[in-house]
Amino acid sequence: MTVSGAPAWVHACSCLECQRRSGSAFSYSAFFPESTTSVEGEYRSWRRASPGGWHESSFCPTCGSWIFSRLEALPNIVGISAGCFADPAFERPAKLYWSSQRHRWLSLPKEIEAIDSQ
Ligand SMILES: [Zn+2]
Repeated sequence: MTVSGAPAWVHACSCLECQRRSGSAFSYSAFFPESTTSVEGEYRSWRRASPGGWHESSFCPTCGSWIFSRLEALPNIVGISAGCFADPAFERPAKLYWSSQRHRWLSLPKEIEAIDSQ
């Protein structure tokens, strides 16, 4: 997957579904206008229902990495897993959604806004 330009926004989410699909304590995604992204190669996708409409997750069938997501509520936007950039200097998330479900050990820097739900 390639992308040009800076993300429109970056956020993290610790809802239980993001915990399951990431296999970690939260997801961490950068959202780009779809027109600035392109996908080469094979990927697999699956959809789940969520309160805001469907959420489609796409992953690499070889290594299983969760690469990107699309949400019914955000047409023409692609959320790319921030870890896929393999860049420790990548922009921090501005918000953590579903903070009410975050792991208890996870304290946030003051620069990251904690949102109790979505
Ligand atoms: Zn989530």
